[in-house]
Amino acid sequence: MPLVVQKYGGSSVSDAEAIQRVARRIVETKRAGNDVVVAVSAMGDTTDELIDLANAVTTDPAPREMDILLTAGERISMALLAMAIRELGVGAQAFTGPQAGVITTEHHGRARIIDVAPGRLQKAVSDGDVAIVAGFQGLHPETQDVTTLGRGGSDTTAVALAAALDADVCEIYTDVDGVFSADPRIVPSARKLDRVSYEEMLDLAASGAKVLMPRCVEYARRFDVPIHVRSSFSGLEGTWVVGDTAEGEEMEDPIIAGVAHDRSEAKITVIGVPDVPGSAARLFEAVATSDVNIDMIVQNVSATVTGVTDISFTLPADSVPRAMAAIEADREAIGYAELTTDDAIGKISLVGAGMRSNSGVSAKFFSALRDASINIEMISTSDIRISVVTRAEKLDEAVRAVHSAFDLDSNDGEAVVYGGSGR
Ligand code: ADP
Ligand code: ASP
Ligand code: MG
Repeated sequence: MPLVVQKYGGSSVSDAEAIQRVARRIVETKRAGNDVVVAVSAMGDTTDELIDLANAVTTDPAPREMDILLTAGERISMALLAMAIRELGVGAQAFTGPQAGVITTEHHGRARIIDVAPGRLQKAVSDGDVAIVAGFQGLHPETQDVTTLGRGGSDTTAVALAAALDADVCEIYTDVDGVFSADPRIVPSARKLDRVSYEEMLDLAASGAKVLMPRCVEYARRFDVPIHVRSSFSGLEGTWVVGDTAEGEEMEDPIIAGVAHDRSEAKITVIGVPDVPGSAARLFEAVATSDVNIDMIVQNVSATVTGVTDISFTLPADSVPRAMAAIEADREAIGYAELTTDDAIGKISLVGAGMRSNSGVSAKFFSALRDASINIEMISTSDIRISVVTRAEKLDEAVRAVHSAFDLDSNDGEAVVYGGSGR
């Protein structure tokens, strides 16, 4: 019997009625002759609300307790979904991440799945039941503590389950009809992609297209799991995220896959760093001790007279206090004059494998921003991506300007956003 893994995001299970709707969809899939394993997210904005609650009782939530708190969100939805399926006359069993055999690293808040031991899920399925798994969570075997996988982590749970169970497909159900050429909340005329390669999807996701978590795409590529991103609110065919097309088919692929944006980063500028060998090394060694992921780095040309320079870098906004503390602690060794932060930045990225073989893409990108009078503060590129930092308040305008400069608009009317708060 074919095995389908389905993942339902928070907006698809936002209340009791939505859970019943999803239950009907699962039962339909089961009755059509498939075995079904489901990963489910917390209802609506539950995870954000739990984070707000934690921040209301402390300024520094302990990571272990934070994970215990956050995993509660998915436990609620998994239990309710199993009950709603049983109500429709089909057997269903709910499992927490640890019960489902999801083994992770120890890093609270951003654990990585190491392995899935799917024995209990296989047993449930062979008993004829639907297995419902709480997304976004697992167990670190040494500490026996529950962990979470980082925001959007239920996507990764689903792909890991699909890989471990050798599923035929991993369906990611969300509140839009698939992966679009830009976030439909910002560009209603965005075009739905029928197919996108793991490679391009990984760059889109890593650049802020939160329709899929980057780690889930990495996982799918590694285990060759085909992902079908689609809406739980419509019956439409969505977007297939798959390996590169066979040679010869490549001609059909568009040059640009899409535009992504990210509002979650901030910028730290270290002013007056001595322009001598080893300065950058000392600075970033200090940052590394705070376990922060750096994105872009820019070093200004130094004025020969002063012999000092400024170094700016971007990082997730919620890592700023940690990084600042680490740099300040090493102030003497780095020898800088002043430290500033800026969280009013936005990043826009253009992604497409066709950039490798087409010239003029950067020129068109930058002239689109110029025509919209948008100032560029930082630039970084890879062979299939160009990213720039702008003022946050200009970001939406920048996305729309670039999207239309590359003729990415759809011919089939506006994209539908079915639900979700976009939070
Ligand atoms: P879920 O709760 O189902 O996991 P998410 O909110 O995490 O849903 O992801 C879906 C959202 O991703 C959409 O509502 C949309 O606003 C946003 N998004 C950002 N970029 C894209 C894109 N390129 N294509 C589709 N959706 C996108
Ligand atoms: N509930 C978690 C979050 O909001 C995980 C997920 O939805 O994928 O990030
Ligand atoms: Mg998500």
